Amino acid sequence: MAEENQNNGAAMKRRVLNTIVVVILILLVFSLWSGGLFNNGSGATDIPYSEFRSQLANSNVRVIHFQGSQIVGELVSPLQLDGQQVTRFSTMMPPYEDESLAAELKAQNVQVSSSPPSDDGWLGALLMNLLFIGALVAIWIFMMRRFSGQAQSQLSNFTKGHHRLYRKEDSSVTFADVAGMPSAKADLTEVVEFLRNPEKFKRLGGQIPKGVLLVGPPGTGKTLLARATAGEAEVPFFNMSGSEFIEMLVGVGAARVRSLFKDAKRSEPSIIFIDEIDSIGRVRGTGLGGGHDEREQTLNQLLSEMDGFEPHDEVIVLAATNRPDVLDPALLRPGRFDRKVLIDSPQLDERLAILKIHARDKPLADDVDLDDLARSTAGLSGADLENILNESALLAGRRDADEIGAQDIREATDKILIGSERPNLLHEDEKRLVAFHEAGHALMAYVLPSSDPIHKVTIIPRGMALGHTRQLPERDRHLHYRGELLDRLRVLLAGRAAERIFLEDISSGGQNDFKVATDLARKMVCLMGMSEAIGPQYIDTAEEHPFLGRSMAMGRCHSERTAERVDTEVRRLLDEACDDANQILTKNEAAVREMVDALLERETLEADEIKEMMGRHGVGKVTRDGDRVQTVVKKD
Ligand code: ADP
Ligand code: MG
Ligand code: ZN
Repeated sequence: MAEENQNNGAAMKRRVLNTIVVVILILLVFSLWSGGLFNNGSGATDIPYSEFRSQLANSNVRVIHFQGSQIVGELVSPLQLDGQQVTRFSTMMPPYEDESLAAELKAQNVQVSSSPPSDDGWLGALLMNLLFIGALVAIWIFMMRRFSGQAQSQLSNFTKGHHRLYRKEDSSVTFADVAGMPSAKADLTEVVEFLRNPEKFKRLGGQIPKGVLLVGPPGTGKTLLARATAGEAEVPFFNMSGSEFIEMLVGVGAARVRSLFKDAKRSEPSIIFIDEIDSIGRVRGTGLGGGHDEREQTLNQLLSEMDGFEPHDEVIVLAATNRPDVLDPALLRPGRFDRKVLIDSPQLDERLAILKIHARDKPLADDVDLDDLARSTAGLSGADLENILNESALLAGRRDADEIGAQDIREATDKILIGSERPNLLHEDEKRLVAFHEAGHALMAYVLPSSDPIHKVTIIPRGMALGHTRQLPERDRHLHYRGELLDRLRVLLAGRAAERIFLEDISSGGQNDFKVATDLARKMVCLMGMSEAIGPQYIDTAEEHPFLGRSMAMGRCHSERTAERVDTEVRRLLDEACDDANQILTKNEAAVREMVDALLERETLEADEIKEMMGRHGVGKVTRDGDRVQTVVKKD
């Protein structure tokens, strides 16, 4: 930072100096020109011959000098000409003989002298013109120099990127500000200790990792952790985002890498952090569609810089990505990013810790239960949780409250998870349709044996969703049984099923239901080995190769026959789910209709209300028989 400021100061001075020089040159040229030096060598003002004659007639001319046909002279009292005081004048003899001039001069007693027409005139004029041109050229050169100087400094700013030169991240961010991730912190503690006390490790001949790759979904605190590592070690932190390396100018990325490493080495011990490294570190040479040269050059430079590290260098490169699968294997070789630190979505206790960290400076009302919030936010990242608290603070502020209330938190959670509320978006009959659709999802979620408990149902449109049925897992899940996935398919398809059964028509809503259900069914068949017909094989479902088609994607091929069997299996899973949903909803028509009425009246139903309603109608859990559900067990 300091160096940049200095640079700025020097550049400023240079610019001022240049400007002064240019101004002086311009003034010089102008004064030469307006001083009349170009017209004649004497500094006299040109006046018309007739004016000269009238001045002579008025006895205002004292001395004249003939030089060829030019007359230069002096006036007794100054003449006002074009707002200018003229004493010395010059004029040209007219092309005709002015016979009376001699007599007049004699009569006025003017002192007359003469000299032959000299070369001096045109030589002087030529010299002056040359001077003029020279001055113009000088200005031009100055301008060019200044301009290119600017361009050059811009280019060097370019190559330096925006990483913060010599900015020691103040240790306000340390491991204490990072909640959870005990194993990630433990891995990075080694890095911290090395940077704090390199001698200790070197003496023992210990090999310290050059590069550590932080891998995890977006928003899980990778950047935060890297920063905290630098803060903990109290070393400078050179931060650069992968996408910043890639600029329009070829070669700039590589130059940036070079200067980044040079700067980091100059202030070792230090940490280089390359965020989003996948944007430069993708597998090389997949070259479809061009435009990869720049990235490859940048990547090559990065690899060679890391290879160039000497064992005594006290620079450690941290990098973050959420796509480790696309990284070039060369990056992961020993001596480069050979350590991986995995960062997962936070667990229940970690979520609570994150919430506590971000609630530190926020006054919470007594009815706020962070435990509850942590429990109901499985799968959310640290960034999401921070967002929820910020959003609820804004909501509380909007209603002029002193504290954040439970309602603010609920509202903020929905807003972050689904989107902003859009009241009055729906027409009355659209509302009815959405109510049936959501009641379908909700009832299905309620009766299936392995589906997550229902949390709430609403027909208030939010974000892209016209209605919403929310289920909450009882605890964080890392695995799912086949029965749960089958239930999930049934819940997803129950929205459409309810429309068909009770409204005898279907709507365009629920596109997302089909997408999610189809993706899930395909995964079950292709990736999880959950289909008898396909068996325990892995079938790559990577995006289709643009030229080779799906079956050749990523070089793993499976036959067209297998592809067809996959399609049949996926279709079977979805059809069966649809059938089961139809069956269950038809049998529970009364319960569905009551839920719809309640939704139309109150718009949102909480878990308790639904439970009570279902109890009243004697709706209980169903049992499963193989893949299919069995008859509804009525409690009556
Ligand atoms: P990533 O780099 O993995 O995408 P960030 O490090 O940018 O995620 O995290 C975004 C924000 O989320 C952080 O600034 C921080 O406020 C919050 N956050 C994420 N994880 C945690 C955590 N474990 N503890 C505290 N805050 C966290
Ligand atoms: Mg990040
Ligand atoms: Zn739906």
